[in-house]
Amino acid sequence: MTDVKKYLLVAIPVPIREAFIYLPKHSLLDCTIGSRVSVPFGNRELTGVVIGHTEENSIDSSKLRAIHQVLDNQALLSADLLSLCRWTSDYYCHPIGEVIFSTLPPLLRTNTALPAERTWLLTTEGKGLPSSALARSPKQQEIVNYLLENAALDDETVTASTFSKSALQTLKEKGLIYRAEKKAVASKAVNQLLNETPLHLTGEQHAAIEKVRHHEFGTYLLHGITGSGKTEIYLQLVARALQSGCQALVLIPEIGLSPQTVTRFRKRFAVTIVEMHSEVSAAQRAKNWLAAKHGHAQIVIGTRLSIFSDLHKPGIIIVDEEHDSSYKQQDGFRYSARDCAIYRARQHNIPVILGSATPSFESLNNAATGRYHHLILKRRAGTTPPAEIEMVDLRGQALTSGLSEQSLSAIKAVTEKGGQALVFLNRKGFASSQMCHSCGWVSTCSHCSASMTVHSRPKRLHCHQCDRRQTLPTLCPNCGSNDIDVHGVGTEQLEDSLVNALPGVPVVRIDRDSTRNKSTLKSKLAMVETGESCVLIGTQMLAKGHHFPKLNLVVIVDADQGFLNPDFRALEKIGQLLIQVAGRAGREGAVGKVLVQSHRPDHPMLELLVRKGYFALAKALMQQRHNSALPPYWHCVLIRAESKRRENAEDLLKLFAHCYREHFAYSAETQLVGPLPSPMEKINDRFRFQLMIKSSERKQLKYVLEKLISAADQNSLSKRVRWSIDIDPAET
Ligand SMILES: [Zn+2]
Ligand SMILES: [Zn+2]
Ligand SMILES: [Zn+2]
Repeated sequence: MTDVKKYLLVAIPVPIREAFIYLPKHSLLDCTIGSRVSVPFGNRELTGVVIGHTEENSIDSSKLRAIHQVLDNQALLSADLLSLCRWTSDYYCHPIGEVIFSTLPPLLRTNTALPAERTWLLTTEGKGLPSSALARSPKQQEIVNYLLENAALDDETVTASTFSKSALQTLKEKGLIYRAEKKAVASKAVNQLLNETPLHLTGEQHAAIEKVRHHEFGTYLLHGITGSGKTEIYLQLVARALQSGCQALVLIPEIGLSPQTVTRFRKRFAVTIVEMHSEVSAAQRAKNWLAAKHGHAQIVIGTRLSIFSDLHKPGIIIVDEEHDSSYKQQDGFRYSARDCAIYRARQHNIPVILGSATPSFESLNNAATGRYHHLILKRRAGTTPPAEIEMVDLRGQALTSGLSEQSLSAIKAVTEKGGQALVFLNRKGFASSQMCHSCGWVSTCSHCSASMTVHSRPKRLHCHQCDRRQTLPTLCPNCGSNDIDVHGVGTEQLEDSLVNALPGVPVVRIDRDSTRNKSTLKSKLAMVETGESCVLIGTQMLAKGHHFPKLNLVVIVDADQGFLNPDFRALEKIGQLLIQVAGRAGREGAVGKVLVQSHRPDHPMLELLVRKGYFALAKALMQQRHNSALPPYWHCVLIRAESKRRENAEDLLKLFAHCYREHFAYSAETQLVGPLPSPMEKINDRFRFQLMIKSSERKQLKYVLEKLISAADQNSLSKRVRWSIDIDPAET
């Protein structure tokens, strides 16, 4: 059979939408699809990935160049992973080369050879060895015994154990053992998989598990209140997948949750579990990625990037806290790991579980239309009743660092009884700005349209947009007055004030500033987990899934924060945050109470949330979205542009708007909003604008984008302005 295909399609990490065409070095047969190659690119040499063979070529053949070298004999990226990359590249309008290279572990993006994964096995003679044969060589006997029990001995095990390397060599020379390529782990019996007995299930949990069909595609929205036992459902579903020799992929929203999740899974399963997130060292990440690819690891736990793990035989995907906006990458390749998870599950014909106490409106809508199965858990798994939520009206009250008298005495009462309290404030630093009472000067950043945060340790002003730092003025830089003060309580100020108010009670502040290194966060969390009486001060970081068994009280300092946010998702996010924070209280027998401080306690949406819960709030807000033609009912794309020259950014978007009007002005299925300045109009001296296009039809939106992209390609402004396309944006 003759191969009519002559050319290679190679993805290269450069911001050009198409793949590149190269000639093979010798024959096309040497260049497996999915393998890395080194190619000449301009006067550089780059690593690329072969994504296809083709017979078409629009370029003059004499100008084509041949690849330099094939780097992998076998495909590094499986056909499934490549098809995921191609789909995401197309769906999110992002260059295929950048998609592949931003999702591969950093070490594998280069031309380094893959580490050989080999193991020791017994030969037939080795297996049939009489038990007394090695009586004089206990070190050799030890190895043979291990192999008789475990079938294979990995290099990692040799390094970690006291096995003698010379004994291994001697056994090899005697023909009793041999080296071989590692094989994927075979399926195990239930009793070999588990380290502990699964928990007894409630009726609701049992019913939920029964509904999930294995070896069949299905998206399941596991919608359960905090404390309803979603984790146990994950564990038991993963066990079912492992029993049939499949792997499980578990996505978590935050690196900080990784240790706790991995510990929980290790306690349950006697299988290889690997972590995949940006804090895993480069060498380890490449190893973990390959272990998942070859089936040496059965469970992969990771943040959004782990959705691009190549899996040998996936059996289930779990997305915990599916509503969390961290599943959407906010810069560069702007993909949603949750939405990719659904694509992957369909690709492999397996179930995907989206778990949350506060599901995203997208998922609630998909459940309502029957696209997702809706599994609801209404009851807590233990005997603890859910925490009681109470509003605290702040109007006209004297406040101590943002805390009302009622909240402060509730915190005192809890700590006096030896309990724990969490004070939630989503504002880092000492204060959000500095202000002059004489002339009205405010500490705004001269490079951004943001105020500079006041820090007390060390004393300085800090811009959280561009990271610039300045010394803290003691006199007004504008009029010289010493009548300057701070505005907007931050976590540092709250900490000082609580330390003063509660002598002898440990106050633990957990935010990005206080936990810059991993071990500080770990030790702070460990201290809270001992259950000793203390007050925790936390930002958004703490709202996500952390488990504080002894927490009796939660105070939400400023429920109004975010009401002024123009983002159409602002209220959805406030609702999720309040319920998630409240859910930290009242676990494991501790009676929980949540105090929600607000200047607008009669805000109808806040009232609805407190009285009737998240689902009622979601229904009301979703009705509003429906009326305003917004997601989840309409689809939306945001085009952002930024430039040091204000008019350039705005003009490029005006060009898009013009092109849109030319083609779609009379379309009832699409709408255009903008161009408008972005909510943060200037960051680091760059002016930012945005344009939103909405459509009731996804296909139509895609069609509009194609028109706009080709208009951009023909206009030189698009080369001078930094601009991006964000499909299904998480932040507008
Ligand atoms: Zn002044
Ligand atoms: Zn700061
Ligand atoms: Zn700044």
